[in-house]
Amino acid sequence: MSLPATLDEAVAALAAVPAAVPVAGGTDLMSSVNAGLLRPAALVGLGRISEIRGWQYQDGHALLGAGLTHARMGRPDFAALIPALAAAARAAGPPQIRNAGTLGGNIASAAPAGDSLPVLAALEAVLIIVGPGGSRREVPVSHLLAGMEMLNPGELIGFVRVPLLHAPQVFLKATGRTGPGRAIASVALVLDPARRGVRCAVGAIAPMPLRPLEAEQWVAGLIDWDGERGLVPEALTAFGEYVAAACIPDQPPAEDGSERPHPPAVLHLRRTVAALARRALGRALS
Ligand SMILES: Cc1cc2nc3c(=O)[nH]c(=O)nc-3n(C[C@H](O)[C@H](O)[C@H](O)COP(=O)(O)OP(=O)(O)OC[C@H]3O[C@@H](n4cnc5c(N)ncnc54)[C@H](O)[C@@H]3O)c2cc1C
Repeated sequence: MSLPATLDEAVAALAAVPAAVPVAGGTDLMSSVNAGLLRPAALVGLGRISEIRGWQYQDGHALLGAGLTHARMGRPDFAALIPALAAAARAAGPPQIRNAGTLGGNIASAAPAGDSLPVLAALEAVLIIVGPGGSRREVPVSHLLAGMEMLNPGELIGFVRVPLLHAPQVFLKATGRTGPGRAIASVALVLDPARRGVRCAVGAIAPMPLRPLEAEQWVAGLIDWDGERGLVPEALTAFGEYVAAACIPDQPPAEDGSERPHPPAVLHLRRTVAALARRALGRALS
């Protein structure tokens, strides 16, 4: 395994051995190796690249290094900057996973239950992808997750650019059991007072986070942005149901025109999404 000290060295190491695979914390990659699903010809370790282990400020944004661990993002100084991403990081697996697992690995794995993904979708984050010869290109996270753009062989996620909104943000996750576990549904919700916007993304129920755009616009129009911002409970409930129906639509009617209800498990998931979205908005506005 090679252990480069800079991003450009890591890209050069990947170019030198085209079958090599990058590894950051190894929490996803080594699970696949241990399960016999993957046999990388060589590994390029990213753990010694200090330039991607922190963050810097850039024009009202934070430029987050892909090597930030969940544990680091969960700390109070990071939570003061990007509260929803910190909450997602704190919810990502048991402590040993949070100590090793990274933001870049979470994005590159693109697992439906990846906890950072709905937050990055709601924040409309942009990836800075580093390639051979010092090349840099920018790709919205949502494009990568939707498969509209891909990481080319030899490219690495270097940084993630996230706007600093200075307003409440919430991440909530439902697991199938008590304690830490993978999400069966999650909701990230951010307020953007400067644009008078509410942005929401639902994770884990589809291959990529879903944005209920009409529900976002509807509720943003109800909020008193210059006043106390609060909403009546009925509006919070309606928002939750709007989000859930957008993400898990009703089934089309049967041929005879009769309603076709969802199976109980889908109805349960829809209720869970509605409850998470309602609670997330209530907390953001409280
Ligand atoms: C027991 C267990 C519980 C877990 N629970 C959760 C959970 O609750 N929530 C959650 O979100 N995840 C969970 N995970 C998944 C995993 O821990 C996270 O996705 C983690 O963030 C992956 O990061 P990593 O650094 O370990 O990635 P790695 O395992 O090092 O890499 C994963 C993939 O990303 C690629 N990669 C890594 N870094 C880069 C980069 N900078 N550029 C391009 N490609 C890159 C690798 O080549 C590999 O294909 C869990 C995993 C385990 C084993």
